Amino acid sequence: MDVRDKLGLLNEKIKKACDASGRNPEDITVVAVTKYVSNERAQEALEAGLNHLGENRDEGLDSKWEYLKDKPVWHFIGSLQSRKVKNIIDKVTYIHSLDRHSLAKEIDKRAEKPVSCFVQVNISGEESKQGLPPQEVGSFIEGLSQYENIKVAGLMTMMPNIDDEAELRGYFRKMKHLQTEIAEMNLKHAPCQELSMGMSNDFMIAIEEGATFIRVGTALVGED
Ligand SMILES: *Cc1c(COP(=O)(O)O)cnc(C)c1O
Repeated sequence: MDVRDKLGLLNEKIKKACDASGRNPEDITVVAVTKYVSNERAQEALEAGLNHLGENRDEGLDSKWEYLKDKPVWHFIGSLQSRKVKNIIDKVTYIHSLDRHSLAKEIDKRAEKPVSCFVQVNISGEESKQGLPPQEVGSFIEGLSQYENIKVAGLMTMMPNIDDEAELRGYFRKMKHLQTEIAEMNLKHAPCQELSMGMSNDFMIAIEEGATFIRVGTALVGED
């Protein structure tokens, strides 16, 4: 199916989830995750009107960066090694995987202007997942005030591999509470208004619970 058709289906589902929860589809930004697909497919995504693209490796970002004629807004969504920061920093607008001070320090050092970051949270406590435990997020974010080039746009999470809708919904809801708590701290460097959560399998639940950025690969640009 071409990206345009997939985007049509996605938009219908976004609308449905928004209708169910009294939200406005305009408040949801779709990040098309192109990590599995070719440069040509990424170009097709741009032509379909998607201008936020996400990659989780510096190699993938480089290749698509070079190839695409029109420049999208790039999101770095994967775990990020500090030594890779210099390779990506001039290409990306958002980094979704800030989870430690050493990384914040490196971003701060390499960036020439403030970078919008999402602090990654391990909301399910699953051992294999990246991110900070929820109880450490507030103090971590307070401590980021020392870095001039870090702006905390919001929180990001990934769900564990489970199908239990009620359990997933509970995790998304906890993320919304945590985001609200941080926003209410009124920190100048951390407006924290955004929630990056929801992927191909669970974006409707994520939207119903407050996601403002959804990161969708397979269901949107998957080559099937
Ligand atoms: C791959 C990936 C996605 C997209 O996953 P799909 O299931 O293909 O939609 C979203 N977020 C992150 C961090 C990813 O690595």
